Amino acid sequence: MQKLTCKNYRITAILLLLCLALECYAQPFPVTDSVAADDTAAYAVIEEDVEALSLDEDTVEEIFDVVDSASADSSEFPAHAIYNQIWHNAKVNPYEIRLVDTPDSAIIDVSGYHHPIVNRITSDFGFRRQFRHHYGIDIKLRVGDPVRCAFDGKVRIAQRSRTYGYYVVVRHYNGLETVYAHLNKLLVTPNQAIKAGEAVGWGGSTGRSTGPHLHYEFRYLGVPINPNDIINFTTCTPHSDTLYVCAANFEYIKEIEKIRFYTVKRGDTLGHIAMRTGVPVSKLCRLNKITRTSIIRPGQRIRYT
Ligand SMILES: [Zn+2]
Repeated sequence: MQKLTCKNYRITAILLLLCLALECYAQPFPVTDSVAADDTAAYAVIEEDVEALSLDEDTVEEIFDVVDSASADSSEFPAHAIYNQIWHNAKVNPYEIRLVDTPDSAIIDVSGYHHPIVNRITSDFGFRRQFRHHYGIDIKLRVGDPVRCAFDGKVRIAQRSRTYGYYVVVRHYNGLETVYAHLNKLLVTPNQAIKAGEAVGWGGSTGRSTGPHLHYEFRYLGVPINPNDIINFTTCTPHSDTLYVCAANFEYIKEIEKIRFYTVKRGDTLGHIAMRTGVPVSKLCRLNKITRTSIIRPGQRIRYT
């Protein structure tokens, strides 16, 4: 089995620390101002879950703490080598690895899958509205329904955030991580071993949520994968017993990186914006899901790529 590894991670982390000291570090993924930073996670979304990739000053400290403490007991955590012995009980993505250009690939055993809750999909992975990206899939539920763990593994995070509400992240022995958000009640604690099918919590609508549902994510090395690449949500089973993960699974990030905005100024019309950006009005309308007669207001952000 060929695994994606993060062998250069220590060097990268040290460089990032140095850059932070110089106040000149750059985020590997763009954070548009449509995505607000949060203290819990990278790559989590929008309407219910707005979080962006960020590397806070204390994050670097935490990473080093975690590497030091975890390396002393490296057999304790699932897929520990793949994750460069990083095990973090608060950050959804403490790894900060760019996978969209990786030449590596991985074959992951997904045969032991258990669907967290069988119900209809209310929101899919992908762009929402004109520019916001949803990094998970939403499954309808009733408050109090048990939400079950997808594979055997160990609970890495069980806590509350502004956006996810009560949520759980599990690292699995197959190398994937899964996220269960907007729970009403947590039934697990960090570092607890868990089997596929065991309840991680009760469904709910906590955090940034407009109604009871499960926000469900698959991640590899911290980066979301489209759940539809793995699971057939009609049969609630994996497409295959093995999942092949490579750069193609992360191509969507390039689409996110392409997005640019024009901020409407007083007196602007779509025609003015088309001239200034070089993008036809028809394309502006399509990208922003507006019409030629829609009213645009100063301060409004118009996507033009
Ligand atoms: Zn969601």
